[in-house]
Amino acid sequence: MAVFNLRAYDDHEQIVFCRDVESGLKAIICIHNTNLGPAVGGCRMWDYNSDEGALIDALRLSRGMTYKNAMAGLQMGGGKSVIIGNSKTMKSEELFRAFGRFVEKLSGKYITAEDVGINPNDMAIVNKETNYVLGLEGKSGDPSPVTAYGVYKGIKAAVKHKLGRDDLDGLKVAVQGLGHVGYYLCKHLNDEGAKLVVTDINKENVDRVVNEFGAVAVDVNEIYSQDVDVYAPCALGATINDTTIPHIKASIVAGAANNQLAEDRHGDILLSKGILYAPDYVINAGGIINVSFEENYNRDAALEKVDEIYGTLTEVFEASKLSGRPTNVIADELARQRVAAAKNK
Ligand code: NAD
Repeated sequence: MAVFNLRAYDDHEQIVFCRDVESGLKAIICIHNTNLGPAVGGCRMWDYNSDEGALIDALRLSRGMTYKNAMAGLQMGGGKSVIIGNSKTMKSEELFRAFGRFVEKLSGKYITAEDVGINPNDMAIVNKETNYVLGLEGKSGDPSPVTAYGVYKGIKAAVKHKLGRDDLDGLKVAVQGLGHVGYYLCKHLNDEGAKLVVTDINKENVDRVVNEFGAVAVDVNEIYSQDVDVYAPCALGATINDTTIPHIKASIVAGAANNQLAEDRHGDILLSKGILYAPDYVINAGGIINVSFEENYNRDAALEKVDEIYGTLTEVFEASKLSGRPTNVIADELARQRVAAAKNK
């Protein structure tokens, strides 16, 4: 495979292939860009079908972190790592220690954290070998409530831009996915008088928001076609696709899920239908912002930074309106500009 020619390669600064025979570790650490600071991004453990698949996933995620961190206004670059293997059967103390040693050898150029397939215990083991770990238990805590707060602020920015309103009273919001983030998002929306239509594959999660916030529950496949103002994807990625877009009645798509657009072109389709899309990595940055405040953690300072999501999204929406180009394209451009400007400093 010609790595430098891969579309996902996108001028990564450094890629480290990590192998430790004794523990069975096979991992890839991708450092996309460090213009703004050390590359920060989680470690994912996944049973990839091929090494190529693992590399491409890591490269895409790593570039995504550069954009996310830049748009969040953090002095952090973008990176990501993947451990290749089954997270249910292949975990061991030695595996995570070996991974930690590879992170340590990068001397702080890459800082790791939890991602899919990795839990706080795993990261505590990594931390025995390196201090270049963020999001450890007992420090900045669960990022989900802060992510939800940022999404709530982002929805307010979208509502202001699209509907000209400063409040959410009586506004209808469809929330898909009522897990860690979705639940707290529902709480903020309900506190401000929004009407909630919700769905989740987990009945307990549905019952909780129905009982606590008077939400109306609908079937998982019916969430797209609800007659609402806002559709908030907070479950899986790629829910904005050729199949779902024709059903969406909301004039705003704004939620926490990562990689909401199945493909970039779906951003163009949303624009052509007059649906305002809040780029996922801009609106869901609350968690990474929270973690960035981990040293001498101060919740109020973190939330103040998260408040900036409102202004950043407004900038993206206005630039999109002025140029007639999709918000996802504008956000990528702004992120690249911020990264390039940091290099010239
Ligand atoms: P979570 O696993 O706690 O919650 C996801 C919820 O979605 C679960 O309740 C699950 O049952 C539900 N779900 C799964 N498939 C579904 C389907 N087909 N239809 C409806 N519901 C379905 O995850 P989370 O931490 O709340 O994160 C939600 C999303 O936000 C994810 O895409 C995540 O990557 C993204 N995100 C989370 C954070 C964070 O701080 N937790 C930060 C940034 C982005």
